[in-house]
Amino acid sequence: MKLLEYQGKQLFERVGLPVPPGRLAYTPDEAERSTRELGGPVVVKAQVAAGGRGKAGGVKLAQTPEEARRQAEAILGLTIQGEPVRTLLITRAVEIEREYYLGITLDRSARKPVLIFSMQGGVDIEEVARTSPESIHTFHISPLEGLQAHQVRGLLFESDVPRDQFRALGDVIQKLYRAFAEFRAHLVEINPIAVAAQGEIWALDSKFILDDDDLPAEIPGGGAETLDPLERAAKEADLQYVKLDGDIGIIGNGAGLVMSTLDVVQLMGGRPANFLDVGGGASAEQMKKALELVLSDPDVKGVFINIFGGITRCDLVAQGIVAAKRDLDIHAPMVGRLVGTNEEEGRRILHEAAGVIPVAGMEEGAEKIVRLVHESGQPSAEC
Ligand code: GDP
Ligand code: MN
Repeated sequence: MKLLEYQGKQLFERVGLPVPPGRLAYTPDEAERSTRELGGPVVVKAQVAAGGRGKAGGVKLAQTPEEARRQAEAILGLTIQGEPVRTLLITRAVEIEREYYLGITLDRSARKPVLIFSMQGGVDIEEVARTSPESIHTFHISPLEGLQAHQVRGLLFESDVPRDQFRALGDVIQKLYRAFAEFRAHLVEINPIAVAAQGEIWALDSKFILDDDDLPAEIPGGGAETLDPLERAAKEADLQYVKLDGDIGIIGNGAGLVMSTLDVVQLMGGRPANFLDVGGGASAEQMKKALELVLSDPDVKGVFINIFGGITRCDLVAQGIVAAKRDLDIHAPMVGRLVGTNEEEGRRILHEAAGVIPVAGMEEGAEKIVRLVHESGQPSAEC
């Protein structure tokens, strides 16, 4: 499964890669408002899975909020490689001095990850391979030992990267490998890495492919024809949902995060009832849909909500949770971990709504929900 740019960037942020601040927008109005909030020039970017969005007119610089509105109008009218554009990412524009390419993917024949770097970034790596193959540097990474510091140093020396960029670029390489390993990715790519006028380094784009074969065993692959009614409802609501056979509902944003949440809940002795990825721009509305869906599974005795992201507004997510609790008359225990923009306000909102327990850490949250579900007295079915 291929993530959208903003979803990939959320995973990037989780490993500390430098991503310019951004906001999602669904309308020209929102694009204008986001630009005002971000301040300064922005880039308006179509969020579709297809590559080459720049060439297709799906990536445009805007100097002012008004210009961003006009660009958003134009881009929202585009269809890029058969995909109508419905979502935009508005990011603060970086003044680019140089563009580099960095990718890590599995070399199937060598059965090892391979790292690929080129100082000719911003264009397709296939094109670079044709036009200036000498600029491409690659090496294999031992799956056992991981990426070695001397490999990174060797690459930097051999590729003519200016000395004063060694540290920042070495750091980006280490962190991208961490993202690759941690999320069990099939491919991760930053193209371009931008070196800004002041020498700072930014990940301006993300490509993230999570191999379905690497999904944990409890997540079935499931073609459309095998979907159960809940999974079909999820599809219609644009939520990634897979039913599992436990009793703890799981809601998170980003496939990698949801998978680690499942792992941690299991580690704490709990049994997840589902996999549910609300996507990157978890809004109040989506959160409500997600809770409704998870709780329509009669096995669910409690819910753990784990939201992490720089773009996601935690206060809005919290409002969504609280509204859903009220409107859907939810009595099952709920634990919420919200990390990101306005997280304190998010926690405060949860705290004030009795019955939703805010936590700071993933393990703490998992432990709490497992205990609450056990205490709820319902003897959970043995298997
Ligand atoms: P892609 O065409 O789908 O790969 O989309 P990208 O996110 O890579 O954007 C395409 C191109 O737009 C990049 O290669 C950059 O040259 C340019 N671009 C993206 N972000 C910025 C930015 O913040 N500032 C400037 N000046 N250009 C940008
Ligand atoms: Mn790109």
